[in-house]
Amino acid sequence: MLMKNNLIDSLERILPRKNILSQIEERYVYSQDASNLPDIKNIADAVVFVESIEQVQEVVKLAAKYKIPVICRGAGTNVVGACLIEHGGIVLNFSKMNKIIEINPKNMTARVQSGVIVGELQNEVEKYGLYYPPDPSNLAVSTIGGSIAQSSGGAKTFKYGSTKDYVIDMKVVMANGEILQTGASTIKNATGYNLGSLFVGSEGTLGIVVEATLKLIPKPETRQVLMAYFDKIEDAVSAVDEIIDEKVFPATIDFMDKNAIQTVEKFFPSGLLTDKEAALIIEIDGFLEAVKHQSEIILSILKKANASAIQYSTNENEYNKIWKARRSSMGACAKLKPNVTTDDVIVPRQNLAKLVLGIRRICEKYKLEVCMVGHVGDGSVHPQIPIDYSDEDEYKRFKLAKSEIYDLTANLDGILSGEHGIGALKRDYIHLVVNPLALEYMRMIKKTFDPDNILNPYKIF
Ligand SMILES: Cc1cc2nc3c(=O)[nH]c(=O)nc-3n(C[C@H](O)[C@H](O)[C@H](O)COP(=O)(O)OP(=O)(O)OC[C@H]3O[C@@H](n4cnc5c(N)ncnc54)[C@H](O)[C@@H]3O)c2cc1C
Repeated sequence: MLMKNNLIDSLERILPRKNILSQIEERYVYSQDASNLPDIKNIADAVVFVESIEQVQEVVKLAAKYKIPVICRGAGTNVVGACLIEHGGIVLNFSKMNKIIEINPKNMTARVQSGVIVGELQNEVEKYGLYYPPDPSNLAVSTIGGSIAQSSGGAKTFKYGSTKDYVIDMKVVMANGEILQTGASTIKNATGYNLGSLFVGSEGTLGIVVEATLKLIPKPETRQVLMAYFDKIEDAVSAVDEIIDEKVFPATIDFMDKNAIQTVEKFFPSGLLTDKEAALIIEIDGFLEAVKHQSEIILSILKKANASAIQYSTNENEYNKIWKARRSSMGACAKLKPNVTTDDVIVPRQNLAKLVLGIRRICEKYKLEVCMVGHVGDGSVHPQIPIDYSDEDEYKRFKLAKSEIYDLTANLDGILSGEHGIGALKRDYIHLVVNPLALEYMRMIKKTFDPDNILNPYKIF
């Protein structure tokens, strides 16, 4: 084992000194993430800001030689403890590897470094009339590397799929420092195993993504967002079914419950109607005439489905205002108590009502506040629970509620994450939804790719 001082000396031979953080305060800051867990078990031995693939390789070779954990970090916004430092190690920070290397309009692809911010990539490709749909609500800060590692989704997954559907090629630094290329610049590929799919969603446990080629699609000509309010939560959920039954295909069918609406309105006034039980946020995009046509169909479905009020955007400002309100929900909820947690349970859509109402019931039983949002078109629900960790009784009730929510999800044929990942937070529950043989094969894959268990060790399982 390398002593900490020797580790810093060795890193200085690879990287400029200014790219290495070694003070305890600095290392502490980079040892937590947006999971907001009450106790930090361990902190990093060093934090390094890498600027090239070669630097990543050299750091990993050093870590491999001395069997030191390597924990990648994009923006640290994952909510499952995927960046927590449980066994010491080196934090590999990608914020300086943030270049868009190429946008290729002919191929409709973009090649990027891992630290590129998702929202910035979206803005850049839109200048070429192109579109990168994956849109985690915090796309203004989260990185491509982090969203590949967590297989991030977002509201537009309903129509366009999630990150996994857009990664066509990657350069990955493996646990021994070698570089592996997973695919090609072609938008389809049936040449051998789909190695790329193993890295997407692997939470930095199988390899380190240093470059990615992403598929783009044409930017829809226009878009409109409708916010439909309901006096009963059940009506909102059945409106989702009715839209789907009608075979219209909005880009999003998102959800906010009354607590989420009221909390956003309290801290970020946005003109939301706070006396309603629930709202659906439905975006329609495409050619202008098609958007008008779909909008008429959806409005008539919503009225029949007992929507008691409907707001809709007539320009980009109004469009952004509605989405800003929805995306502010976790930030608003964080203001209710010293901490906030979120979750990411998902069920087959036919079981959505049982999941939403069941989560409410469980939170009531344990006297917990909950602001519920979700990408309900996918069957995905994010219960955001504000919490004061210094209140031991509340924390105990919270843990019991979480465990019941996971049991409920499993009983409804659901899974524990549709887009946030498992990290350290949910690994004790993964067996509820992944069968033992599948878990055994996952462990064998980990062992093959990372025999010394240095890449983000013990995350996922
Ligand atoms: C307010 C809020 C709203 C959110 N909304 C959504 C949402 O709507 N949909 C959604 O899907 N998610 C959402 N998330 C979760 C979060 O956005 C994603 O998990 C995010 O994409 C993580 O990106 P990051 O850059 O912060 O990654 P980090 O948190 O830094 O890292 C996440 C994981 O990726 C690994 N990693 C990072 N870079 C690399 C790399 N180059 N190679 C290999 N592994 C790497 C890390 O080790 C870690 O395991 C939300 C989070 C917050 C705080």
